[in-house]
Amino acid sequence: MSSFETLGLSSPLLKAIGDMGFEEPTPVQSKVIPSLLEGNTDVVALSQTGTGKTAAFGLPLLSLLDFNSRDSQALILCPTRELCIQIARDLQNFSKYIPEVNVAAIYGGANIRNQILEIQKGAQIIVGTPGRMIDMIQRKKVRLSTIRYVVLDEADEMLNMGFKEDLDTILSETPHEKNTWLFSATMPDEVSRISKNYMHDPIEVTVGSRNSGNENIEHIYYAVRNHDKYAALKRIADYYQDIYAIVFCRTKIETQQVADRLIKDGYSADALHGDLSQAQRDQVMKRFRNKMVQMLVATDVAARGIDINDVTHVVNYNLPDELENYTHRSGRTARAGKKGISIALAGPQDVGKIKTIERILKRKFERGKLPTIKEVQEQQLLHIVENVKGVSIDKDRMGAILPGILQQLENMGREELISRFISLEFGRLPVIKPCSIDDPFNGSHAEDEMERIKLYINLGKYDGLDKRGLLLFIAKTTGISGSDIIISEIKNSFSFIKVKQEKLNALTLGMKGRSFGKRPVRVEIRNEDAPEFSRLRDRKYGPQHSTFEMGQERKPKRSDHASFKRTSRQKSFAR
Ligand code: AMP
Repeated sequence: MSSFETLGLSSPLLKAIGDMGFEEPTPVQSKVIPSLLEGNTDVVALSQTGTGKTAAFGLPLLSLLDFNSRDSQALILCPTRELCIQIARDLQNFSKYIPEVNVAAIYGGANIRNQILEIQKGAQIIVGTPGRMIDMIQRKKVRLSTIRYVVLDEADEMLNMGFKEDLDTILSETPHEKNTWLFSATMPDEVSRISKNYMHDPIEVTVGSRNSGNENIEHIYYAVRNHDKYAALKRIADYYQDIYAIVFCRTKIETQQVADRLIKDGYSADALHGDLSQAQRDQVMKRFRNKMVQMLVATDVAARGIDINDVTHVVNYNLPDELENYTHRSGRTARAGKKGISIALAGPQDVGKIKTIERILKRKFERGKLPTIKEVQEQQLLHIVENVKGVSIDKDRMGAILPGILQQLENMGREELISRFISLEFGRLPVIKPCSIDDPFNGSHAEDEMERIKLYINLGKYDGLDKRGLLLFIAKTTGISGSDIIISEIKNSFSFIKVKQEKLNALTLGMKGRSFGKRPVRVEIRNEDAPEFSRLRDRKYGPQHSTFEMGQERKPKRSDHASFKRTSRQKSFAR
């Protein structure tokens, strides 16, 4: 195990990080710092948020720059205002014993004049968000021709947020001869493009496997129906009473609604999304940071750059549309070596997404079972007991009254006393009412649907079929019981069906070589995440366009319908 001393850092830096309580370097720091200290190196570092990236680039910068000069020598670009402030603050802390260091934080939503003054004071390091940096460049208030080092922090996030052109513009203002250090949690093509275009022979450092998640995060999904998600969220909050969580929703409206409902139901929650003013957002963040709020319900955009170390849970109320965002969401927990849980409330439509995320992360989700009311109550009792164990006795205030109290309770045994006190505490807790998730059929139904394999079949409404008709046709043709088949979507010329894993063979073999009327039937396994899937969905007539009957558009045919009527003797299926 390496220590900071062996990495080659100067003593003022060692002293400062010692003051901050850093004892040993994190993996990304051990891997990156020695190479960067050698100077004249470009680096691409793939590492999750919260793994100590700021020190990984910040400490080498503070070692390499010339602080006798007032020129701007390092430019750090990052996606959000919060991260920008955080990086500048960290750099100031690291350089506590190097008084000549000036750091300017350049971000939107704050007075630009003060920031211009910061630059003019002679900031050797500029930390900026792309939008505000462009503004500075256009106003000719920043000179980037003296920059020797550029750091792109959370490069994938900057691109996700649409800063691609801004980055190109800013980088074109910097000299050709410089070093670029790129940090990113994931490596989408756009990030590769940046590294190819702007970097010379970079050293690639990967902490953990590429795109893999933080080892300290436990990933759990709960199979729930969509209308049960709110009840599931409450149950989770009831169970983990010390929860300190970020709950991710997809839209601003949903974010506000979930937060409002939680507050109305007596939970400690607040909403963070883009419809709030900057001042309101700062207020919410302050309350969350100070733990006055236990659950922060947020959109992806609003929660970017949130850097709080002891978040216990991330809850995906909905899975993100861009699955790479799952990595960013879950990275808000298990920071700085702590453990954390990332929960997905997965509706039946989310099976494919869970599988894709597992592939991206190279980690398996555990399938969780929502706690029952009884389990929650047990947990609450244990919590009370833990509190009793942890409480310190206030002798000053109790001293005078205690003898009287002891006398009053004199005749009660230990067990009775404990039971009475616990009952009293327990009685103060809100009553948990049974709800839809406590209906055993409901839960198992959602899980059952999650378990199934989704298949595409090239039959649909144009074949004169409705859900029932298609179900009957498949059941008859394959001999599989209708109860083992779910018709999940019926479109004009194709449909999606779901079967249990164990019926998959019977279904595909049973359908092989079969026709519906004159039309050969085609069945394929569909992963929602297969690239062609999204295209397929958008098309009006499904994939047969190109593959079926020599590319002719398929229209409903009377004969198909008729032949179904002829061949289906519906009574025979009624088992
Ligand atoms: P970062 O990825 O830079 O946002 O860092 C995440 C958190 O880990 C921050 O709160 C840092 O202060 C903390 N941290 C970074 N490096 C270390 C270290 N070597 N030892 C302990 N904590 C660290």
